[in-house]
Amino acid sequence: MLTILQLPVLNDNYIYLLHDTVSGDTAVVDPAVAQPVLDALAKNNWRLTAILNTHHHGDHVGGNLELKQLTGCTVIAALADQHRIPGIDRGVVDGEAITLGRHSARVISTPGHTSGHVVYHFADDNALFCGDTLFVMGCGRLFEGTAEQMWQSLQTLKTLPAATQIYCAHEYTQANGRFALTVEPGNLQLKQRMEVINQLRAKNLPTVPSTIEQELATNPFFREDGLELQETVQRVGKKPVEVFAAVRKLKDEF
Ligand code: ZN
Ligand code: FE
Repeated sequence: MLTILQLPVLNDNYIYLLHDTVSGDTAVVDPAVAQPVLDALAKNNWRLTAILNTHHHGDHVGGNLELKQLTGCTVIAALADQHRIPGIDRGVVDGEAITLGRHSARVISTPGHTSGHVVYHFADDNALFCGDTLFVMGCGRLFEGTAEQMWQSLQTLKTLPAATQIYCAHEYTQANGRFALTVEPGNLQLKQRMEVINQLRAKNLPTVPSTIEQELATNPFFREDGLELQETVQRVGKKPVEVFAAVRKLKDEF
């Protein structure tokens, strides 16, 4: 069993602790800050063995050095970002495998939000840790990449098994959903999902994880094929990447 613990930190970040019960190995994905991770490790009597970073932004690597210093864990991140990941020990590239006890993940390169962004797919555990590439009903802003790159990255994620759980790094769901409704007001599944999301958020509960299946049905950045979406952005019959770019631009201005 891979145990996954979700820690809400800062305004809207999620840190994930992954624990392999057999080996005792524990990894943390995108530790924005160290203390909540240290507290969770102590509470569960877990030993931190690795940090997995998706990209170099401060709200994803802020706890790296303190955690490394206190636990001696290995910092794993994109080789392309080795100059800007604090404490990096191992640089990984697209397609490479990493292991946590008996569990293994494939590194998938997903440029767009940043040029070096990577995600970690634990196929046997049906879990994807996708940082700021894919959000629930949204996707990351294009800070360093082009719309074409981000679209390609999302195309890769779209092909993962429908049941894959999406563990993204932010609780942006409610705002994303409000935008999604403006571009696909006729999407019934989206409307229904927003009711559930609003109820969860009213109780301050997480809306993450999601699944690839749910995203295919409700995430506008997965739905360039939809006629209603194409009509909203006045790109009927255009190339999917053009539809995507237009939706991304609208979201930036939303
Ligand atoms: Zn970011
Ligand atoms: Fe972030």
